[in-house]
Amino acid sequence: MRILITGAAGFIGSHLCDRFIAEGHEVIGVDNFLTGSPDNIAHLMGHPRFRLIRHDVTHFLYVEGPLDAVLHFASPASPVDYLKYPIQTLKVGALGTHNTLGLARVKGARYMLASTSEVYGDPQVHPQPETYWGHVNPIGPRGVYDEAKRFAEAMVMAYHRVHGLRTRIVRIFNTYGPRMRLDDGRVVPNFIGQALRREPLTVYGDGSQTRSFCYIDDLVEGIVRLLEVEEPEPVNLGNPEEVSIRAFAEIINRLTGNPAGIRFLPDRRIPGDPQRRCPDITKARQRLGWSPQVPLEEGLRRTIRWFAERLQR
Ligand code: NAD
Ligand code: UDP
Repeated sequence: MRILITGAAGFIGSHLCDRFIAEGHEVIGVDNFLTGSPDNIAHLMGHPRFRLIRHDVTHFLYVEGPLDAVLHFASPASPVDYLKYPIQTLKVGALGTHNTLGLARVKGARYMLASTSEVYGDPQVHPQPETYWGHVNPIGPRGVYDEAKRFAEAMVMAYHRVHGLRTRIVRIFNTYGPRMRLDDGRVVPNFIGQALRREPLTVYGDGSQTRSFCYIDDLVEGIVRLLEVEEPEPVNLGNPEEVSIRAFAEIINRLTGNPAGIRFLPDRRIPGDPQRRCPDITKARQRLGWSPQVPLEEGLRRTIRWFAERLQR
């Protein structure tokens, strides 16, 4: 296949590039390096089946030749990033989705949108199945991301219904692993960076809020499987093992041998921070035969090792 991936220099995008290259496909990556880094794809530069186009996908996008699949993964993804780039986040969800859909349509390519568990907002249904419509504050600080993705999903469904485009929507829950940016503000790089520097881990609030963390290799496997089936309705991909942020901090301190403990920062929680989040993955199990294989502590060990090497350098 000849596959175009937007957000190719980001955390998830770069792992997708690796997977498709390893399987013998040709990959065209598109990225403007807003939140990603050339380091994430440096090892692919010069590869005969990989090409990177530096481009902002909120502007018209065209490439020569056939395309079999377009994967739209470009978007700031961490709360710190999308609060820093609120307008870019809205634009890449809206205009970027429209441009990439248009490209997929002229090429007759399959299309996949990277959506998010944030479409469920601060959920009142738990765990969250795809049928849940969500609980989102459109004008809160997180609204720029949540509503961009909700608009993007609506746009993808419109292209599917009006033009018969073969579309997929993946609702990704918190995913972690090597190549996250140490300073992206998300809980995994924050905690691991602090633990490796022997600092106390900064827990926002009382740490009773929960998340469910999926290792990147598991997510990539689910994405590859979803691309292979015809499923236009959204599919959750994430790890249903739910953990409180406080317990998560304790795990990271134990795995790193960090003696500095936890520091509670009640005033630094971003308003609208969801209190609970856990995917219902029944649909992914049934449609894709998929479930996460990497246990939390194993994935964290691999991620800690990667961050430790980076910090040493
Ligand atoms: P990331 O910030 O590491 O990667 C995003 C990439 O998109 C970056 O390389 C950035 O430079 C690029 N980008 C942003 N705006 C662009 C534009 N206008 N034109 C071209 N490139 C642009 O984030 P990530 O964690 O890899 O997330 C990738 C996708 O997955 C995002 O769409 C995000 O919303 C979604 N997602 C991620 C998670 C997660 O836990 N990592 C969870 C839910 C959804
Ligand atoms: N969090 C925290 N300390 C940090 C960073 C994040 O306690 O240093 C919390 C944050 O308040 C949220 C959870 O960890 O409840 C996950 O935050 P993250 O930014 O990783 O992403 P989110 O899941 O909120 O999109």
